[in-house]
Amino acid sequence: MSSALDPHIPEPETFSPALRDNGPAAKVAIVGAGWYGCHIAEELRADGHDVHIFESQADIFGGASGHTQNRLHLGYHYARSAMTRRQASEGYRHFKKIYPTLSRVVANNIYAVPRDDSLLDSETYLQVMQASQLPIELVDSTAFGLAPSTTAFRVAEELLCTQSAKRLFGASLRPQLRLGTRAESVEEAHGTLRVNGEPFDAAVDCTWGAWEAGGQGMWPDLYFEPCVTFVYESQLHEFALTLVDGAFFSVYPFQDGLHTLTSVTHTPLGRCRSHDEARQTIARQNTDSLERTRRIMEKDVARYWPPFLDHFRHVDAFFSVKTKMRSASDARVVSVRRSGSRISVFAGKVNTIFTAADLVRQEMHAAVGRNQWASL
Ligand SMILES: Cc1cc2nc3c(=O)[nH]c(=O)nc-3n(C[C@H](O)[C@H](O)[C@H](O)COP(=O)(O)OP(=O)(O)OC[C@H]3O[C@@H](n4cnc5c(N)ncnc54)[C@H](O)[C@@H]3O)c2cc1C
Repeated sequence: MSSALDPHIPEPETFSPALRDNGPAAKVAIVGAGWYGCHIAEELRADGHDVHIFESQADIFGGASGHTQNRLHLGYHYARSAMTRRQASEGYRHFKKIYPTLSRVVANNIYAVPRDDSLLDSETYLQVMQASQLPIELVDSTAFGLAPSTTAFRVAEELLCTQSAKRLFGASLRPQLRLGTRAESVEEAHGTLRVNGEPFDAAVDCTWGAWEAGGQGMWPDLYFEPCVTFVYESQLHEFALTLVDGAFFSVYPFQDGLHTLTSVTHTPLGRCRSHDEARQTIARQNTDSLERTRRIMEKDVARYWPPFLDHFRHVDAFFSVKTKMRSASDARVVSVRRSGSRISVFAGKVNTIFTAADLVRQEMHAAVGRNQWASL
């Protein structure tokens, strides 16, 4: 199905190689080695900057990036926001172009609309996706064991190959990575920026709000959701199910014969004021509380997809912290802010890394005066 996508999706409007900088190299500290830190490091290195990546964990992708549902968003999730659909399509196009080996097709990637509980009816959902030129095919929901009250569509959304991404970035950025090195302090005085006491020309916070010193004062509007994702074994390698549109669940392939189960309502375990507080909430989870949450989620799934537990056997769970903005309209929009030579990134979805890199580059020009037109 993926080849049928290409003619329909408009050319990306963001990601401007024209901004590539030929000026002298700046020494840049990047803090955090998830999708954002690694991709932005690649971009800045390609610009000729001297990049150093601080990562507090022993390996890359140990934060949210290694613990997602691995959905390469294309727009099907956002029936009620044309802007987010457009952003997802653009991001998808960039992703396929820049990282062609880091996603794959899921043969039966099903989005299902329940007749009585969805915020949009299935006709409207179909029309919205068709109007956005997203490939979508009506299929028989009962053929997949779904309740007859659901309308099912096969879609062209792909799966992110996160383990491959980890290997790719781990190898290509090896000289730049300082693993097991936490950025503790950042100070800027008399035109000199220091991270952990070491001078840099600029620092880019790619911790998704975890490094409070890095984002100090720049993001007063963040909050943090500790999240649980349940992991299941299954033989259904080529199957994904997402219920739309509302507070539903989704079952998505993960890796090595495993699938994940998440729920809009039950995956978030709370709402916290800091990343630390979110991690503490995760640490407080115990077998009983997790079992209760899992049973509720499985019951939700069975309501729309009765044979779920015939195909899926629970084996594990993992946790991650989702960073959000208080303003709902900003919640899914990638954003970059700067104070002096400190640049801070608020991540969107994985496929908005390109927009983030563009914005960081613009701020780098402003911060370290490397704009090639500035001297004219
Ligand atoms: C449950 C869940 C499911 C999701 N599913 C999807 C999905 O299917 N598709 C999608 O596109 N997006 C999804 N997302 C969003 C996705 O996770 C984010 O877009 C992405 O991971 C953000 O990457 P990042 O690099 O900004 O942050 P992270 O991956 O969290 O990386 C931050 C890094 O900074 C490091 N760090 C923190 N503090 C310091 C410090 N002081 N010094 C040094 N290092 C530090 C951390 O160890 C971490 O490695 C999901 C998110 C969650 C929580």
